[in-house]
Amino acid sequence: MKTALVLGAGGFIGSHLVKRLKAEGYWVRGVDLKNPEFRNTFADDFVKGDLRDARFVKEVMVIESNDGKHPLDYRFSRRPFVQHLIFDEVYQLAADMGGAGYIFTGENDANIMHNSATINLNVAKEATLQKSRKVFYSSSACVYTAINCTEDSAYPANPDSEYGWEKLFSERLYTSYNRNYGLDVRIARFHNIFGPEGTYTGGKEKAPAALCRKVAEAQDGGEIEIWGDGNQTRSFLYIDECIDGIRRLMDSNYTEPINIGSDEMIAIGDLANKIINISGKSLAVKFVDGPRGVAGRNSNNDLIKSVLDWSPSKPLQDGLVETYSWIANQI
Ligand code: NAD
Repeated sequence: MKTALVLGAGGFIGSHLVKRLKAEGYWVRGVDLKNPEFRNTFADDFVKGDLRDARFVKEVMVIESNDGKHPLDYRFSRRPFVQHLIFDEVYQLAADMGGAGYIFTGENDANIMHNSATINLNVAKEATLQKSRKVFYSSSACVYTAINCTEDSAYPANPDSEYGWEKLFSERLYTSYNRNYGLDVRIARFHNIFGPEGTYTGGKEKAPAALCRKVAEAQDGGEIEIWGDGNQTRSFLYIDECIDGIRRLMDSNYTEPINIGSDEMIAIGDLANKIINISGKSLAVKFVDGPRGVAGRNSNNDLIKSVLDWSPSKPLQDGLVETYSWIANQI
């Protein structure tokens, strides 16, 4: 039985990843500050704690097995442990992050940089010391400024948020550990992942979830507000395809940063109209001032097609139908 450690397992992508790894037969430990928001974890073992604490990172990154053989025998207890086992796979998804309302206002910059960088400094060092077999790191499309996001266009670097700068720093951190100490890393740049069981309210939600919530809450014949002029373009990737991409990348030997995103670009105004159509309501759209991020961005999937012989293919519409239905039910 393979073992996996998922850091950030209480979050949106992490909780879906745990579910997939369990379905594939892994023994999984999840770690997070909090439980998953919308349902119980599927992890065999879920440890709550702060990954900014180096001692805590040291503790959770080994499986303390009391017979020295099988991780399922692991229990939290004060019994003396015989052997420390390392995880076959470590997935590092924990970060201080959110949607445009959290990242682009400037109000959270110091926390975003400090919290996420500290987590990654701890994880990269400890994974190296403990000779972890493979480490996955989740970077972001926020490292790019170009509209057509080929991987090499990240440099010369000029991310438009401190969140993006921290991601670039941490990519470089993991590749440095790879270069100097042979840490076996996989680095994905996610492009706007969405789907059921993602945050849809509270200020950290992303555009598809925020729009689904606004549409679900609006009275038929009413109005919803959108930040910006609706012309900002993005691409959005459905969660199941993101998890497929993560698993395929982890099974490959590719150690450089690579996009995991959809190349179906859409303007935010058109995205709102799609969701309104799905709802069956008749709603007007009002454009208002608000944080909006870069003008345009689209995942370029040439590299992932050539390296993994795969790229995401599910139409945006299908993912939106499932996401709208889940958020409308929640509301
Ligand atoms: P999320 O916010 O739902 O999950 C991140 C999790 O990390 C949260 O549950 C949070 O509690 C946990 N965390 C934060 N600080 C912690 C700490 N100090 N100790 C322990 N846990 C801590 O985000 P997500 O959407 O699941 O994203 C996962 C990863 O993918 C993040 O690194 C994010 O930056 C990256 N990413 C996501 C997207 C996206 O569209 N969702 C896009 C690009 C990159």
